[in-house]
Amino acid sequence: MSRPARPDERARVHPARAAWEFLDPVLVDCPACGACASVRVTEPPAEDRYRRLTFGARRMTCSRCSAVREQPATEVSNPTLGLPLRLVAPTRHGELVFFNLEHLDYVRAYLADRVRAESFTESGPRNTSVFSRLPAWAKRAQARDEVLAAIDKARAKAA
Ligand SMILES: [Zn+2]
Repeated sequence: MSRPARPDERARVHPARAAWEFLDPVLVDCPACGACASVRVTEPPAEDRYRRLTFGARRMTCSRCSAVREQPATEVSNPTLGLPLRLVAPTRHGELVFFNLEHLDYVRAYLADRVRAESFTESGPRNTSVFSRLPAWAKRAQARDEVLAAIDKARAKAA
């Protein structure tokens, strides 16, 4: 059990970010060898970051077996090229998935923040942010230790 937050503990700031901001790279299971493969956006250039990261052309490369898979720019977002996401954190309550290590660390830092866990409220204007879309069970203080352990296990799969 975690101790309650002291009044003098100040909440760290966790700036709200949208999930699409984490779509390059996306870590997946390599379809050829099962290792961790990386899907990167190859085009278009970065003028419109949202369009690039959501609908841009992509290339998957595997550093273990050198497999390559490509996907042209598309109107339907498919950032994994249909492959399973690598960073999955299963718990008794459900699972959390992450596009890459930056995404994982961003969510982990938020969930690990003791003050946030004590003061979290579901409502708020930022209902499109990564944090607002986390399942309620993941944000409960009672589940925090289990959730963080599952996230740490998922992190190890990025190697
Ligand atoms: Zn491979």
